[in-house]
Amino acid sequence: MNQAFDIIIVGAGMVGAALATGLGQQGIRVALIDKAEPSAFDASSAPDIRVSALSAGSERYLDSLGAWHSILAMRATPYRRLAVWDETPNPLSRLLPPSLTEVEFSAEQLGARHLGHIVENSITQQALWQTAEAEPEVTLITGRSVQDLAQDQRLARVTLDDGSQLEAQLVIGADGAMSRVRDLAGIGVTRDQYDQQAMVISVRYRGGVEDITWQGFYPSGPRAFLPLHSAGEQLPGECWGSLVWYDHPARLAQLKAMDEPALMAEIQKHFPARLPELTHIDARASFPIARQHARHYYLNRVVLAGDAAHTINPLAGQGVNLGFQDAQCLQGLLKEARRGGDDLACERWLALYEQQRRPANQRMMLAMDLFYHLFSNAIPPVHLVRNLGLGAARALPFARNRVARYAMGLDDKLPAPLQQMVNRLPGLGSL
Ligand SMILES: Cc1cc2nc3c(=O)[nH]c(=O)nc-3n(C[C@H](O)[C@H](O)[C@H](O)COP(=O)(O)OP(=O)(O)OC[C@H]3O[C@@H](n4cnc5c(N)ncnc54)[C@H](O)[C@@H]3O)c2cc1C
Repeated sequence: MNQAFDIIIVGAGMVGAALATGLGQQGIRVALIDKAEPSAFDASSAPDIRVSALSAGSERYLDSLGAWHSILAMRATPYRRLAVWDETPNPLSRLLPPSLTEVEFSAEQLGARHLGHIVENSITQQALWQTAEAEPEVTLITGRSVQDLAQDQRLARVTLDDGSQLEAQLVIGADGAMSRVRDLAGIGVTRDQYDQQAMVISVRYRGGVEDITWQGFYPSGPRAFLPLHSAGEQLPGECWGSLVWYDHPARLAQLKAMDEPALMAEIQKHFPARLPELTHIDARASFPIARQHARHYYLNRVVLAGDAAHTINPLAGQGVNLGFQDAQCLQGLLKEARRGGDDLACERWLALYEQQRRPANQRMMLAMDLFYHLFSNAIPPVHLVRNLGLGAARALPFARNRVARYAMGLDDKLPAPLQQMVNRLPGLGSL
């Protein structure tokens, strides 16, 4: 089989499927390829172990693509409050009252209905596969992975594992952190592995659906709670939740190997006291955490988006939100390229994409690194500095709320003076 398209997107994860829908809606002929097969939504199933906090900005984007209402019709849990605090026992803690070292944001304070939604990754992906498939310009090819990539002055050619070939002006690599497209295109990455990994644990707890997501910081890493939906009529008075336990890989391997009662006891002993009463552990999985940035966002007829271009520490739940921002930006620029009759791999447009997205992604990486280094140790002066920081965040509600509205995607822009400060933040040279 030999087929011609305008654009081939490799990877129909959340970012690739969003891009395919958006480009298809602009009348661009797209092939969307994924090695996985689609799976049907089952309302009675336990939640997917992978969940993401989707910001209000991502919600607006998914709504513009027509996917948000199907996500809500399947499962999504709004959160209206978000709290972070330091859990490090330290003699200096006595210098500051505990109430000063916790920051809580609420939708009410920020003038919003909610701060975001916790959504299972598979649900966001399924909703986007539906919107992509509904576009006549989009051809979804599943169960096939990319084996080879060739490019010349005119076209890029992708070979799939069944030997079929697809041609297009542009190939978008949205195939995740281990991107094969990035490798085949000869685009390198810089990568730093953190000392911590993240273990995600799907649990049920007693009580109603919580409206808060929280994170306590320990020297070995944060421990977080993300609320999910009610467990339904068969388990009245119970809800699903997702716990994230960041720690050294050896400690997580030990926890992962435990049976349910032993792991439950460890969670109860080591999670913050405000954790609701757990009734069941459904699943657990651990993920390596790395800061990774592609050396280029494009090369010749290949451009990268989402985790293929960058992965960041998930401690503030920003990864796919950044990926959706890449998708929106690239979609807008390719619309201009098409309108101007340009080749879709025209360097002018791809360079603009990199100019707009690289600094924004890099700033978020820098912020996550600052958090990681500030909170992942128990050295008394560092402990004091971070608690003073949390205290200052409490004491400066105006600046804090404006930054929070921006960080949560409620506002598109920071107020000008704050934006100027952010622009002056040093970049990470090698990223
Ligand atoms: C513990 C943890 C918690 C997180 N929490 C959050 C959060 O709260 N909020 C948030 O915004 N982000 C979060 N993230 C990050 C988020 O999960 C990622 O940023 C997001 O999944 C990236 O989406 P993507 O579409 O770019 O890539 P992926 O989700 O990796 O999708 C890539 C797709 O490409 C396909 N593929 C790969 N190789 C090939 C090939 N050769 N041929 C064909 N198809 C291929 C795969 O099957 C897959 O469908 C978290 C990450 C972790 C590890």
